[in-house]
Amino acid sequence: MNTIHLLPDIVANQIAAGEVIQRPASAVKELIENAIDAGATKIQLIIKDAGRTLIQVVDNGKGMNFTDARMCFERHATSKINTANDLYCLTTKGFRGEALASIAAIAQIELKTKRAEEETGTLIVTEGSQIKEHTPTATQDGTSFSIKNLFFNVPARRNFLKSDAVELGHIEEELNRLSLIHCDIEFSFYHNGKLMQQLPASNQKQRIINVFGAHFKDKLFPVELDTATVKITGFIAKPENAKKKKNEQYLFVNQRFVKHYLLTHAVETTYKELIPEGHKPAFFIEITVPPATIDINISPTKIDVKFQDDRMIYAFLNAAVKKTLGTLSLIPQIDFNYNPEHDFSGIKPKEVIKPPSLTLNPNYSPYSSKPEKKISTSDSWQQFLSGIKQETVAPQPAEPEKLVFAEEPKNTEEVIDEAQIKCLLFSDAYLVFLWNDLLHIVDVKAARERILFEHYLNALENAPIVIQQSMFPETITFSACAAEIVNDVLSELRTLGYELEQIDRTSFAVNGTPIDQKSSDIQQVIEQFVEMYKTHQFLHKTDKNSAIAKSLARQKCGSKLQITSEPEQQTFIKQWLHCQVRHISPSGKKVSKVLMNEEVHKLFE
Ligand code: ADP
Ligand code: MG
Repeated sequence: MNTIHLLPDIVANQIAAGEVIQRPASAVKELIENAIDAGATKIQLIIKDAGRTLIQVVDNGKGMNFTDARMCFERHATSKINTANDLYCLTTKGFRGEALASIAAIAQIELKTKRAEEETGTLIVTEGSQIKEHTPTATQDGTSFSIKNLFFNVPARRNFLKSDAVELGHIEEELNRLSLIHCDIEFSFYHNGKLMQQLPASNQKQRIINVFGAHFKDKLFPVELDTATVKITGFIAKPENAKKKKNEQYLFVNQRFVKHYLLTHAVETTYKELIPEGHKPAFFIEITVPPATIDINISPTKIDVKFQDDRMIYAFLNAAVKKTLGTLSLIPQIDFNYNPEHDFSGIKPKEVIKPPSLTLNPNYSPYSSKPEKKISTSDSWQQFLSGIKQETVAPQPAEPEKLVFAEEPKNTEEVIDEAQIKCLLFSDAYLVFLWNDLLHIVDVKAARERILFEHYLNALENAPIVIQQSMFPETITFSACAAEIVNDVLSELRTLGYELEQIDRTSFAVNGTPIDQKSSDIQQVIEQFVEMYKTHQFLHKTDKNSAIAKSLARQKCGSKLQITSEPEQQTFIKQWLHCQVRHISPSGKKVSKVLMNEEVHKLFE
């Protein structure tokens, strides 16, 4: 009996689709690339549920006629190449003619397209590679592809998708990779009805700033080199802009985003002595070579590239970046006369300067029974805790002293406050102490996250945090997407002591901060906060206040806490004992281990 048989088309298509379309972001990439190849000057990306239910790309490109609209879903159907030789003079993004066939195999598609020179357009509806509808329709010039319910017939692939936040991140990244090299095209991006990104046609520098935020404005330096065999253009960021993550590294070859280990090394190595170990410089570099000297057909996603002579490109790129960094170091980086406290450069003539103001606690009484906490300037935890006391425990009005004959029963709060707890810091990470005759071991980092979370939640719901007004507000800037989120939580951030005021789409003035917050760190604090907030909102669908409190608490726990002195440890433990939920951190980590008598005895049996 013969055992070999041909796979049915539908199965073969689904298998092939796996190579091209791994996730919603892959479909976004293919559709936008097609729109670019169609000569569009305006591209709209509309996403629902991180691409799970809808990915729509609308372009004003040349459109397709009635027959082409049907043909485009066939495997190996392309208008871009005719012979294998054409592969070596590519000027288009697509050429394999398999993206639409792949998407059609695993989704429902609605295509509306019209060529400007024709009267009517075409509507096509497909489901799992089958054409369900193919009719003339009225529609605008250009093409609109709506991909609905991606992987609807391949549940196994659907299960491989990550959280919405992660998938949305991939989509954003694909859009960045395309928009950063096609600056003459206008892009807009909507997610669940909300405008996430609006990029007008511009030059590359402006595009980078529009994508990543105005803070790049003075930090980008041009890289340029033009030889007979290779042209290099683009921008590199100042060494001090280097980040731990690689996410601001963009290398393009002939207008195509590529990943190339060797060429990335050519750039990174020039920064070696200038940035801390593990940090990655930001760069946006385009390399242009004759199409015949590269092979882009190595992988179905076309993200890899092979050069005829990559050593030569390495040398040119390395030299070009070195040259720019060289000129940079000629500009003095450290100005010994510069005192940041006396920086008036940010003030424009005629600008109205806000006088510094103090927020007073009207309930404060100097006769309060609570001993006043000293604010040590060196220790932000002490400062932070004094902050808590100031805000949440409104001092009682002075009362005439009562004569007390018998001891009144105390509540737990008081017992905690008055307790003398002996503790020990172990391994720089755990506090060990006795409480209620039980041996407690507390993970400092997790406990700190718990304390901060409850503190922030309480602030959001009951007692706003005291704001220290800035005399000369700094400006902070974000990517358009991050700015959108900041805008969404402005009033909550204010309640938490961060008074931000939007200046333009991506920049905010920092008018006030909590007392324990160094103003120079605000950019980083809010940036990281937004990252975490995005995850909480999309991933866990937490309610707004807890998502905010959790994110800020997580952000604040990113740095190591120094609690070496006994009073610091005491205060810390008491804050933790006051928590409503003690034993688990808001991100689900175990905070404490409690050992009873018997358990300790058992250790010695
Ligand atoms: P490829 O891009 O490799 O040719 P695709 O499957 O992505 O393969 O697309 C098939 C064909 O459909 C393209 O060659 C092009 O002729 C046509 N096409 C796809 N998208 C568009 C669009 N947005 N506007 C006009 N034509 C398009
Ligand atoms: Mg294509």
